[in-house]
Amino acid sequence: MAESCLFCRIVGGEIPARIAFQDEAVVAFHDLNPQAPTHVLVVPRQHIPSADAIGPEHGPLLAAMLGAAQRVARQVGAHERGYRLVFNHGPAAGQSVDHVHLHVLAGRKLDWPPG
Ligand code: AMP
Ligand code: ZN
Repeated sequence: MAESCLFCRIVGGEIPARIAFQDEAVVAFHDLNPQAPTHVLVVPRQHIPSADAIGPEHGPLLAAMLGAAQRVARQVGAHERGYRLVFNHGPAAGQSVDHVHLHVLAGRKLDWPPG
């Protein structure tokens, strides 16, 4: 755990969040500033600063993150109509929290390309 990391503090229960799903590897919680009717962030319990720091050794963790995203999509009935999964890395992509997180967006038509 990184002491000053917001998402480590949510994982640790120090900062409240609306949890959608959790298991031994990941926590999924609702975004505070949702960009779609469903906007959930899937984060590993382990502190990893961004998607750019993910390596082959994180294969099982990535699978756990995707599995959690799929479960969230099923919970809200979005698996048939569709949903979007996003990792933002670095300032140009607007990453604002340096703990890797997978955005799960669903519940509306999502334009492409994104802004
Ligand atoms: P990103 O811009 O890709 O780094 O995404 C960070 C996301 O974290 C943004 O969508 C924020 O709205 C969200 N966020 C920031 N603080 C919190 C919080 N305390 N609880 C839930 N979501 C948060
Ligand atoms: Zn962290």
